[in-house]
Amino acid sequence: MPDFEVTVIGAGVIGLAIAARLSERHPSLVVVEKNERYGMETSSRNSEVIHAGIYYTPGSLKARLCVEGREQLYTLCSKHDIPHKRITKIITATNEEELARIEAIYRNGITNGVELKMLDRRATLKLEPNINTVGSIFSPTTGIISAHGLMDYFYHAAINNGATVQHYCDVMGIESSSRGYTIFVDEHGHRSSFTTEKVINAAGLYADRVASMVGIDLEKAGYKQYFAKGSYFVVTPSKARLVSRLVYPVPLNEGLGVHAVLDWGGRLKFGPDVEYLHDKRIDYFVAEAKRSAFAASIRRILPAIQDEDITPDMSGIRAKIQKEGEPPKDFLIVHERERGLEGVVNLVGMDSPGLTSSPAIARYVEELLYG
Ligand SMILES: Cc1cc2nc3c(=O)[nH]c(=O)nc-3n(C[C@H](O)[C@H](O)[C@H](O)COP(=O)(O)OP(=O)(O)OC[C@H]3O[C@@H](n4cnc5c(N)ncnc54)[C@H](O)[C@@H]3O)c2cc1C
Repeated sequence: MPDFEVTVIGAGVIGLAIAARLSERHPSLVVVEKNERYGMETSSRNSEVIHAGIYYTPGSLKARLCVEGREQLYTLCSKHDIPHKRITKIITATNEEELARIEAIYRNGITNGVELKMLDRRATLKLEPNINTVGSIFSPTTGIISAHGLMDYFYHAAINNGATVQHYCDVMGIESSSRGYTIFVDEHGHRSSFTTEKVINAAGLYADRVASMVGIDLEKAGYKQYFAKGSYFVVTPSKARLVSRLVYPVPLNEGLGVHAVLDWGGRLKFGPDVEYLHDKRIDYFVAEAKRSAFAASIRRILPAIQDEDITPDMSGIRAKIQKEGEPPKDFLIVHERERGLEGVVNLVGMDSPGLTSSPAIARYVEELLYG
């Protein structure tokens, strides 16, 4: 018998959602996390938006798991008092050319099964009198959620089911063995190993590194991850009430565009931008030098914001499998049976909407492993 039936590598929102779900029927489960506490990386450095599922390619995992996850999140939040708000969202077109583009976005969202409404200029200004608009898409099911609240819920659900979450436990290597897999870990300089039947790689920014530990050629498999940092600026409190819901521009190139985010402290923030980190060095510093470019992007949708109204705030780093300038790619969630790795599931390129999709990703992983 192996030491554990299931090992989940990484205690971000995705690893924890998987642990909570699988441990209901498979309590011989351990989550190994290299940091002192769960949720200290990307899962606590994001917009905390419950996305509706508007933009993603119809039929893709992102489209399907976002729509499914969003509904599951609202149910979980109501049932377990996880802080959330169905705050709604507007995607505003600021000229005639953008109006044509939001119609395409609207049709994409409808194909994905998202409830949406097209609003003309007057109806948009009735909701958000301070924004720049010639018309918009209104999304009634977009919301915000406390990512920490959600992770606390998943963590306690897993623990209550009998699972173990081991912090300060860095996975250094994985070997296939007669009893499944041997996981080699480093706990504060102390090296040890244990055996497991199944391995779920939910290591976020390091998911490609962990995938290479089971012998996968990252380039060949398309698993190589790139880091795309997203920074935020916070608006001075006197202008924090200029919008009352999430307001997004029409996306330009990469990402959804710098948009208005309302956080749990009632602050109005704008972000995230997209900055590829070519040296893959983790650096969460938000450069003051970005201020005027940020303010210019914000003025596109909220003209009253001046350069001096915003201050550098936080940042997060997305794990992307597309290089800079390439079109967005789908989540890669693969049971590696065809590579002769029965029981190994890799989750690679888990960028947005990973938070929203987390409970649906857990359901999907369970299906891949247990049918
Ligand atoms: C700027 C930004 C904004 C975003 N906004 C949204 C949003 O509004 N809505 C939305 O739905 N999604 C959003 N996302 C995406 C979302 O945050 C991610 O999809 C999600 O948090 C990924 O979760 P994760 O569990 O895969 O990764 P992580 O939270 O990074 O967790 C991975 C864990 O694995 C651990 N780990 C790594 N390697 C090892 C190892 N060798 N051994 C042990 N442990 C290891 C890490 O320490 C980490 O704790 C955003 C992302 C960014 C960057």
